[in-house]
Amino acid sequence: MPQSTIEACLDVMSKPPKRQEGSGLVVMSGGQDSTTCLGVAIMRHGRENVRAVAFDYGQKHSIELEQARLICERHEILLITVDIPVLKMMESSALVTHGDTSAPHEYLADLPATFVPARNALFLTMAFGLAMEARTTHIYTGVCQTDYSGYPDCREEFVVALENALQVGYQSTIKIVTPLMHLDKAATFELARRTGVWDDVIQFSHTCYEGVRDNLHPWGAGCGACPACELRAKGFNKFEARY
Ligand SMILES: [Zn+2]
Repeated sequence: MPQSTIEACLDVMSKPPKRQEGSGLVVMSGGQDSTTCLGVAIMRHGRENVRAVAFDYGQKHSIELEQARLICERHEILLITVDIPVLKMMESSALVTHGDTSAPHEYLADLPATFVPARNALFLTMAFGLAMEARTTHIYTGVCQTDYSGYPDCREEFVVALENALQVGYQSTIKIVTPLMHLDKAATFELARRTGVWDDVIQFSHTCYEGVRDNLHPWGAGCGACPACELRAKGFNKFEARY
């Protein structure tokens, strides 16, 4: 991904927010991408105008919720944690059961076993409602369609359609912002560096599907073998070679 894409992203994000663009709600998973979005939102709106929300759905790598809390505490950002226990019923997903995270999905062709049906739709819908209640103008989500895990609900087409549906259904102008949508993982590392959340990403963010925190690498903690660790390690190596 050309560096100019990061420049374009930072250019938009660093402009002083207009009055009606004053606040952000970041969907925090505690991972690299959502942590980078937190940095972007803080840069755009100012720390005092940013809040975060995390979702507890019984994920087996629930350590990510603890990491989300630590990262938000470091920046004095209020984090709300919302329970969505219904997602535990998505037993086809290896993130909810204890299946093999490297396996293909049980019934959805071409998707990995870690896909959770309805997850992003629920997260963004709940975030939209919370943003309405708090009069927040922008929701930030770290979904990406460049270097991604193969989830169709991380693609721009899905997010734009959902944003449209929510705006129509709830008479709202809240925007769903996806700063990382067209960045690869290497560029996402660079964006973290430029938005002041590098230490948060490397030391505190959690990506590993297996929940491993005590195995440290230059790119952060993780088992080093699951698909999430592989993607992160590959992105870090590319980042070091490129920037
Ligand atoms: Zn891992």
